[in-house]
Amino acid sequence: MSRVYNFSAGPAVLPEEVLLEAQKEMLDYHGCGMSVNEMSHRSKTFDSIIQTAEQDLRDLYNIPDNYKVLFLQGGASQQFAAIPMNLMKNKKAGYVITGQWAKKACQEAAIYGEAVQLASSADKTFSYLPDCSDLPITDDMDYVYICKNNTIYGTHFNTLPNTKGKDLVADVSSCFLSEPEDISKYGIIYGGVQKNVGPAGLVISIIREDLIRDDVLPYTPTMLKFKTQADNGSLYNTPNCWSIYICGLVFKWLKAQGGLAEMQKRNEEKAKVLYDYLDQSKMFKGTVRVEDRSLMNVPFVTDSEELNAKFIKEATAEGLVSLKGHRTVGGMRASIYNAMPKAGVEKLVQFMDQFEKANS
Ligand code: PLP
Repeated sequence: MSRVYNFSAGPAVLPEEVLLEAQKEMLDYHGCGMSVNEMSHRSKTFDSIIQTAEQDLRDLYNIPDNYKVLFLQGGASQQFAAIPMNLMKNKKAGYVITGQWAKKACQEAAIYGEAVQLASSADKTFSYLPDCSDLPITDDMDYVYICKNNTIYGTHFNTLPNTKGKDLVADVSSCFLSEPEDISKYGIIYGGVQKNVGPAGLVISIIREDLIRDDVLPYTPTMLKFKTQADNGSLYNTPNCWSIYICGLVFKWLKAQGGLAEMQKRNEEKAKVLYDYLDQSKMFKGTVRVEDRSLMNVPFVTDSEELNAKFIKEATAEGLVSLKGHRTVGGMRASIYNAMPKAGVEKLVQFMDQFEKANS
């Protein structure tokens, strides 16, 4: 077996222990004689899987009792519509535009009501976060929306915006469970799991109970009403059983590692290895303003397209894969989620140093 160091932005690397555990249980889950892929979502066995997963997530994030945890489908992108449909009582919300995902969420909300751009960092290709201490939030806004970690551009809100009393809704797809959160600061905190938590096809949304209501926009599909999902324990229809199961294993793994404070510490250590190298390199440059840097997604460039392509090709041959940057930034991007070992980042930096010396 030869595993590579996979720097993909998502779907992304998962803990080896989790994959091996799943492999062990593939044909016979806990003596029931079948795989999780084959069992009814209404069975006692699956009920125990989803309940345990929810409880472990509650423990990890210290989720207050007045928040529901929903296991949903349609990816984070479906939430771009579900959120305004469920929350836009006044048909108006504020969006902070820090990248493509926030922009897409805002564009989707504009189908259902007024989606006001409160601030944007589009002027410098989203390479920084705008000042969010005094946003033009008005009383009639139903919520304020951010994308907490910007997967493509590599920025992360280290300080949450001042929402002037409005509910904060945050997409945490690419920093899910990478750091502790004070859940009470959010109305909704949600993310697609395929980066830091599990296999694609599941989005987990943690929603304060008073935001789960009957009076949603009139044409909201039954499946997109938070109330439908909450009333049915995320089992209104057949959920993504497999992804819920693997996420459950990842939650156990995170607990065994020491929880989210420990993950944050490790993520800081890992990211430092790469950022320290970038800060002294003459060939490779980080693209993000230092104070807004993400611990999860690290974009970097050289000053030549040719060199970028050569680097990516040679890195791949060394088992350092999926390093190509997003087309709007160019260059490279290393996604270093929870399951990326420090040794992977060290090997990357070692290779970058070697490449720099050989090509200067
Ligand atoms: N939000 C963020 C921050 C993302 O990085 C992504 C996907 O890469 C999405 C939303 C879209 O997720 P999905 O493909 O699950 O709809």
